[in-house]
Amino acid sequence: MRLRLVLALILSAALLLVSFAAADQLPPNELGRVMILEYHKIDYPEARWTRMPENFRRDLATLYAKGYRLIALGDLLDGRIVLPAGTTPIVLTFDDSSPGQFRYIEQNGVLTIDPKSAVGILEAFAREHPDFGRAATFFVLPTADSPNRLFNQPAWEGHKLRYLVSHGYEIGNHTLWHANLAKYPEATVRAQLAEAKAWIQRHVPDYRIRALALPYGAYPSDVSWLLRGSAKGTTYRHDAVLKVGGGAAPSPFSRAFDPVRLPRIQAIERELAHWLGYFERNPGERFVSDGDPDTVTVPAALRDRLRSELPRRLRIVDR
Ligand SMILES: [Zn+2]
Repeated sequence: MRLRLVLALILSAALLLVSFAAADQLPPNELGRVMILEYHKIDYPEARWTRMPENFRRDLATLYAKGYRLIALGDLLDGRIVLPAGTTPIVLTFDDSSPGQFRYIEQNGVLTIDPKSAVGILEAFAREHPDFGRAATFFVLPTADSPNRLFNQPAWEGHKLRYLVSHGYEIGNHTLWHANLAKYPEATVRAQLAEAKAWIQRHVPDYRIRALALPYGAYPSDVSWLLRGSAKGTTYRHDAVLKVGGGAAPSPFSRAFDPVRLPRIQAIERELAHWLGYFERNPGERFVSDGDPDTVTVPAALRDRLRSELPRRLRIVDR
C-alpha cells in the first residue's frame, strides 16, 4: 500500500518535471521547413546587398536565442540532422566571395582573420557558443574581377579555401565569373561549371563541390546541364542547385524537397524579421529536431507528406 503511494508520488513528480521541461520546447516535427540564408557583402554601410558586421553578429545571436543551430548544407542534402531535441537546423550561405566575407589582416606582425569579416565573426561566435555549430557554404567566383575574385587577397586565395575546408565550412560553385546561365548555349554553361571547379580544386584538390548557386537565380534552358557533365577535361557533378529567393525550404524528408530548386531567404533585415516572425506565429511549420539523427519524427497528420524513398538508416516515428 505504502509502496504504491510512493510510486504514485514519484510518478507525479516526474510528470511535473517533464511538463516543465517541455513548457518552452517545441515538439519534434521533422517535416517542418528549414531556412537557408543567403548573405552577400559583410561590410559598411548596410545596404540592399550588404550586412554590416555588427548586424551579422546580431543575426547569429538572434538565431541562437531562438533555438536555431547551424548545419552544413551537405548534411541537409543527406538528411543527416545531428542536433539536440527541440532545436531547428539553419543553413548559412555566402555568395560572390567579396572581401568582407573572409579577410586576413596583420596585427602586430601576425596574420589573423579579420574579426569583422564573416569568417572571423562566425569563428568567434562558435568559440563563445560551441553548441551553435560551425557551418556555412561559400559560393565563390574564381575568375571574377576585383573585388569578387576569391575574397580579393590574391596571395591568400589558396590559404583561405584550405582554411574553409579544414574548419567545417563548404565551398560551392557559383560559375567562373557570375555568368547568367540563361543566356548561354550548352557548351558555355558546361565550361563555366567545369572550369570553376577546376580553379577551386587547384587549391583544394580532393574537395568535392556538391552545390551550385545560380547567379541571378537564372536557370539555363536545360536543367540537366547543371547536374553532371564535363568540359575542358574536367568532370563535374552537383547534388543541389540553389536559387536566390523563394522562402524557407521544405524538410529534406518531405516530398516537396527538390534539391535542384532549393529556395533561399536573403539575409537582409526585413526578410529575416519576416521569416523569424513567421515561424513564431506558425511554430507547427518549423522543423524541430527529435534529437536522434537515425529517426524522422513526424506529426501523424502530416505523414503523407513524407518522401517515399528515404535513406535506409532512417526510421520513421509518429508523434
Ligand atoms: Zn552571386
